[in-house]
Amino acid sequence: MAESTNKEKILVVEDEVKIARFIELELKHEGYEVDKVHDGRSGLDKILTGEYSLIVLDVMLPELNGLEVLRRVRKESEVPIILLTARDAVMDKVSGLDAGADDYLTKPFAIEELLARIRVALKKRIVKEQETRKLSIGGVTLDIDRHEVKVGDEEVELTNREFVLLQTLMENKNIVLNREKLLNDVCGYDYVGETNVIDVYVRYLRTKIDDKYKIKLIQTIRGAGYVIKDN
Ligand code: CA
Repeated sequence: MAESTNKEKILVVEDEVKIARFIELELKHEGYEVDKVHDGRSGLDKILTGEYSLIVLDVMLPELNGLEVLRRVRKESEVPIILLTARDAVMDKVSGLDAGADDYLTKPFAIEELLARIRVALKKRIVKEQETRKLSIGGVTLDIDRHEVKVGDEEVELTNREFVLLQTLMENKNIVLNREKLLNDVCGYDYVGETNVIDVYVRYLRTKIDDKYKIKLIQTIRGAGYVIKDN
């Protein structure tokens, strides 16, 4: 997607109305959707709605300062945050990065610099999402957030335990997992029963994926357990 047509939504939390307005106009000019608020309390409430791709957050704010907003947000959200700090406020920068800010800019800054930092932070976020939330091996893709498994473009319906079993094997690709380990992950540590229940779930998975799509995803290692190899 071209950057000029993106519709990423950005929140600007800045009490200096003129600066907030200026940033808003520039971001809109770049094709972003923009909301702005002028105090930390409203900023926190807005951020926690989860509807923003990125936050531009001033440190010196009324009601709740930017660092406090940042700390509270980080308990619940990994949304990218770029801090705006006052000149020479070294402690703010250090505290900000410690508290989980992705980046910071010292006022006054060139707007091109802010735009560049925003592009970098958004790109990093996308890479991070792809790394952490999707697993893909041999044409089989598992989307952890959506709880969705696809072979090619075709969705495969799995039960919760089949899904967790497949996820465990894919996360540990090329590592042979024994039945006890799989049982713990799939059924929980307090499960009382035979470990061969794992064999049953593996059989279900093979019916739904290996057999149906004529692939050999899950391999049995005799006397050891199961493995999914990525080659
Ligand atoms: Ca301020």
